[in-house]
Amino acid sequence: MSRYFSRKYEKLIPYTPGEQPEEKKYIKLNTNESPFPPSDRAREYANEAAKSLNLYPDPECRELNKKMADTLKVDEDQILMTNGSDEILNFAFMAFCDNDHKAVFPDITYGFYSVFAQLNNVPYEQIPLKDDFTIDINDYIGINKTIFIANPNAPTAIFLKPEEIEKILASNPDNVVVIDEAYVDFGAKSCVPLINKYDNLLVTQTFSKSRSMAGARLGFGVASKEIIKDLNTVKYSTNPYNINKMTMAAGLGTLEDEEYTINNCKRIIENREYTKNELLRLGFELTDSSTNFVFAKHPKIDAKRLYLELKEKEILVRHFDKERISSYNRITIGTHEEMETLVNTLKSILEEKA
Ligand code: PMP
Repeated sequence: MSRYFSRKYEKLIPYTPGEQPEEKKYIKLNTNESPFPPSDRAREYANEAAKSLNLYPDPECRELNKKMADTLKVDEDQILMTNGSDEILNFAFMAFCDNDHKAVFPDITYGFYSVFAQLNNVPYEQIPLKDDFTIDINDYIGINKTIFIANPNAPTAIFLKPEEIEKILASNPDNVVVIDEAYVDFGAKSCVPLINKYDNLLVTQTFSKSRSMAGARLGFGVASKEIIKDLNTVKYSTNPYNINKMTMAAGLGTLEDEEYTINNCKRIIENREYTKNELLRLGFELTDSSTNFVFAKHPKIDAKRLYLELKEKEILVRHFDKERISSYNRITIGTHEEMETLVNTLKSILEEKA
């Protein structure tokens, strides 16, 4: 720390992103990216947009915003496009959390929530998930705080039904409830249809997973137009040109090619089911995944050791050195071939231990 660093960030522990090795040698199953390339149309549009990078992008992101609104069947002023969904989550902490609106989220969830809370000097509470890693919604009924729920949750992969979320929304009318749907496209059900019923609901989604655009950084929020207006106030006070031209164009191309996304999601779900069955056969215990990853532990091998052995064999998965989940690894679902390699590698590691 330099002697110039503001005291207000003295204790800030930044988010640790998953490893992004430069060498191509790994089968990369550690950061929940899509194994499939972006759609051809996304690439064509981005290429075209590169020709006018001398100009600023449209700060209102009108064309993409309109296409997104049409895709989700909501109004244009009910959407805000952002630089990854991390950005809209940070905006939500900035806009809707303070001493009177403390933040609350599960103890096991997306690690960035507590970082955003600390960054924005927001008091926060973490409510333990049940032993089976599901949420007890009674913990959130009338809690009177700004609620952040990743649904499906990460890294547990478990999905909470929108009917249950409705009970949380209805019992906290004076607070915003943020439902982070980064993984919703892999078999879960979205809360977007609820935005006209609950004016305290903000749903966030991303192009990083199902839409194969993690490297372009594109996410968005869907909510009542008043909430979107508040978020825009924050956006225009931080970075009006938050989405670069190439990303904006690629996002549009992706949305014009929804079939490609839908097919990829189907393939990932098939590969997930294959992986689940094979891992169960090898003696792994798994949570019920509605995402593009599985959360797995094995009674006979320490999870950190397994992570290191897989890494040695050029397969990267994610291990969290965190109490309650240190016996698990989070494994992203890749192509069928990649998952076969993973299964065979796990088999040989387990045989060596037998
Ligand atoms: N929410 C959850 C639950 C995530 O796992 C991630 C990905 N790390 C994000 C949000 C942010 O994704 P992005 O910023 O790439 O949209």
